[in-house]
Amino acid sequence: MEGPRLSGIGMTSARTRERLVQRLQDQGIKDQRVLDRIRNVPRHLFMDEALASRAYEDTALPIGFGQTISQPYIVARMTEALLAAGPTPKVLEIGTGCGYQTAILAPLVEEIYTIERISSLLGKARRTLRELRIRNVHCRHEDGSVGWPARAPYDAILLTAAPVAVPPALFEQLSVGGRLIAPVGPEGRQELIRYTRGETKIRQEVLGAVSFVPLLSGLQR
Ligand code: SAH
Repeated sequence: MEGPRLSGIGMTSARTRERLVQRLQDQGIKDQRVLDRIRNVPRHLFMDEALASRAYEDTALPIGFGQTISQPYIVARMTEALLAAGPTPKVLEIGTGCGYQTAILAPLVEEIYTIERISSLLGKARRTLRELRIRNVHCRHEDGSVGWPARAPYDAILLTAAPVAVPPALFEQLSVGGRLIAPVGPEGRQELIRYTRGETKIRQEVLGAVSFVPLLSGLQR
């Protein structure tokens, strides 16, 4: 299971990963599909080798460009919340980052369309996903607040960077019955919210307080 980059390093062993899975279960993650993905996706491959020994700690870690790889608990919580209301064949993700959340979700859905504004991060994420033979992911270098209208509508939309308010274009690209999960609010006061698009209105559930990097506008090399 261990990639060539870190073979022989105990920090990435099955036992270390199992401890992480146990911790997420203790914190209330129940969906076995999600726990299996946390167990099987080699998180250390998504980060710099210098930090790889900490890859199975339940914490966000830097991935360069002022960005972070999300905390495993949060990735699990968002994935569980997304899958809870039934199948979501087509998913749009805003904020690919290193691609860890993408990799956790990919085999649990049919297609993921993912958008990242920092081109270097997207390039790296693409390579890692390819290395892991994850093939149902479509990447795009774009400002995610415009969504990806050409492939809309989506059964679910996931934001891994926090807007102060969800860009309206994203709700427009959600199918009726679809859900959008996002950290919303200014730094220090964000909440994870699940929106469900009905025939005429959008229902909103607050899932808890969170801390994400902000959704920024424009593109970066
Ligand atoms: N999903 C990642 C977390 C990435 S952190 C994981 O699994 O670890 C959030 C990412 O959102 C960063 O890479 C940041 O560059 C990106 N981002 C911020 N604003 C964005 C925007 N408007 N469009 C697309 N990506 C954006």
